[in-house]
Amino acid sequence: MRYQFTVTGNRTEAQATVVRSPEPGEVVVAIAGSALGAQPGAEIAGTVLAAGDAATDWLGRQVVVPRLLPCGECPSCRRGRAVRCTACMARGLVATHETVPARYLLAVDPLPPAEPELWRWAALADAASAPYGGLVRAQVAPGDLLVILGLAPRGRFAIALGRALGAHVVALGPREGRELALAAGAHLFLDGEQFDAPDIYPILRAEAIALGIDPGSELKVLETTATSAGRRRAIDLVGQGGTVALLAGGTASHCEAALRRLAETESSLVGAGACHPDLFPELGALIARGDLAFEPELEALPFAALAEALADQRCGRRHRLPVLVP
Ligand SMILES: [Zn+2]
Repeated sequence: MRYQFTVTGNRTEAQATVVRSPEPGEVVVAIAGSALGAQPGAEIAGTVLAAGDAATDWLGRQVVVPRLLPCGECPSCRRGRAVRCTACMARGLVATHETVPARYLLAVDPLPPAEPELWRWAALADAASAPYGGLVRAQVAPGDLLVILGLAPRGRFAIALGRALGAHVVALGPREGRELALAAGAHLFLDGEQFDAPDIYPILRAEAIALGIDPGSELKVLETTATSAGRRRAIDLVGQGGTVALLAGGTASHCEAALRRLAETESSLVGAGACHPDLFPELGALIARGDLAFEPELEALPFAALAEALADQRCGRRHRLPVLVP
């Protein structure tokens, strides 16, 4: 039996439903972890319980289901722009089972000693992979000076990933996030509330030189808060040249003067939605090597705690990514 969970008022309601039978290329995943990130219900890891005729190789496998499940066939998909796919599979509510195409599953068994618990891998479905997609879009390379804006789980995964890619990582965020940022691997923390945007750039360069970073190194900025203030600051930062990647989500706002400077300095502004599934195998390898750890960023909660977890997130009471477990 499949249960799906919804929130009414401040209560979690469980509803028994039938598991949809898989089409030939689909599988049914029994969910071990369902992360409450950008799209609750669509960030899952679990074990394949049933499979269609063309997907029987997946039976019993432990898998991560990417948040984005594009069709793989349309013109956008063929150009590698999966986020613009108009035939992406619609994802359901938070539930104990989900029927999904097998095509983009990431097999993670045997689970590596560095991350031996399947439920934690739900973080890879989006919270850890969306920042990776942004870093790839920004072409972060060894020796780059990389500024990460925002210290929620996506930001902290971005710090660890930036470091794994060989960048010098500067975390910019609220003062109380300092220890978390340094624990995630930031080389330097800057208190985001202490500086007005125009002041940040020279301070950043001075700090970079003090860290021994080549002052001519490429500046890359990944904005993970998806807020107007964060985006304005990110664009201000690359106003002297560089690349800014803005993670999707939240609300947009106009910042015309900064955008003009962005154009004048031939900077790049790249959007980054959910990570392309083709990038998941390299992410899995990073985790297996121990370059990225889920453990300090996650918190397991029962499915029945959905309402409480969402309410806490709205109030900013949870610093770790809630993952619902059976
Ligand atoms: Zn498509």
